Amino acid sequence: MKIIVLKFGGTSVGTVERIKNVARIISKYSKQKYKVIVVSSAMGGVTNDLIKKSKLLSNDFSLSEYDVLVSSGEQMSCALIAGRLNHMGYKSQSWMGWQIPILTEGRHGSSRIIQIYKKKIMDFLKSGGIPIISGFQGISLDKRITTLGRGGSDASAIMLAKFFKAEKCIIFTDVEGVYTTDPNMIKSAKKISSISYEEMLEMASLGAKVMQPISIQDARLNRIDIDVKSSFKNKAGTLITKRKNISRNKIITGISFTKNDAKVTLVGVKDKPGVAASIFKPLSQNYINVDMVVQNISANGRETDLTFTIKSEDIKKTKKLIKNNRNIDFRNLLINKNVSKISIIGVGMITTPGVTFRMFQALAKKNINIQVISTSEIKISVLINKENTNKAVSVLHKEFKLYN
Ligand code: ASP
Ligand code: MG
Repeated sequence: MKIIVLKFGGTSVGTVERIKNVARIISKYSKQKYKVIVVSSAMGGVTNDLIKKSKLLSNDFSLSEYDVLVSSGEQMSCALIAGRLNHMGYKSQSWMGWQIPILTEGRHGSSRIIQIYKKKIMDFLKSGGIPIISGFQGISLDKRITTLGRGGSDASAIMLAKFFKAEKCIIFTDVEGVYTTDPNMIKSAKKISSISYEEMLEMASLGAKVMQPISIQDARLNRIDIDVKSSFKNKAGTLITKRKNISRNKIITGISFTKNDAKVTLVGVKDKPGVAASIFKPLSQNYINVDMVVQNISANGRETDLTFTIKSEDIKKTKKLIKNNRNIDFRNLLINKNVSKISIIGVGMITTPGVTFRMFQALAKKNINIQVISTSEIKISVLINKENTNKAVSVLHKEFKLYN
């Protein structure tokens, strides 16, 4: 039995007309050689509305009730899809996470799927049915409804593909695929025909909002091919797959940028063993993610300036933790929100020397100052002044010939 998982995002099921369209897409696949499992998000905007309501009622809304509340959006969209398929003459039925069940562990609001019981769905598939499974939700060991974090329907789709050994998972969304960079900003951005999990993870976690990053990690671990495509246009999308399936002619695959970083500088820190650890320990204990780090030794050798980046939303907490930290001694604390991080990503850089130089030179030619640098095997990131974001992305897009 060849199984395919089709997942539809919020925009794709956002209106009654769009649900009719989704039902047509499902019917097309079910007429092919596949048994189809459908996963749906809530209709666009519904989850946000529910969250807003919870916030109006309490600024500390119980996380387990939050899960009961926000999972309801998917109940609505799945019933609408199944009902439409019934209308078209198909055997179809909706399933909530707890009915299957899809077992999760972890905190409410950010649980992870650990097991999916297959029997009922398998029987239904064998009988010619099309199951419509609610994304984003599951059930905990103590039988409470759980959710998988914002955008978590992607994780549902990937894990269903894993447990049902699906041949493929197609993520239908409102964009045509993954682009070399944001096509709304750079007109010459091109759709990428195939991208490796590792590159996609960097693109996704750095700002390309195509898929939930954690679900790409799940797909990578389980070697599941993902096709990302538009539900509005019948066009080839982007295949996310293993490196060895990709023939590549470019060093750099894509460029991403984020604008929600903040740069923190501790000026005149007493330079002795253990200071960096003393600074970062309380941050990590408070789940503050430190990203880029640089340290400069001062001329007198006794002091150092330490700069690092965090997410803007963590500024307040970070300030407090540093000011209250009795284990460190420094002269001044500077925080700058007016920065953006630009990253070039590509497995091609592993085998090609000189990529860092080309990036820095291209930026220098445009007079763009680099404040902080960080690199990994397949990524080089620089922190620059926010107002130079467009200029930087544009010049790098040209430098690495991503426009064709
Ligand atoms: N409806 C959920 C959300 O808006 C899950 C999803 O869209 O994947 O986050
Ligand atoms: Mg979504």
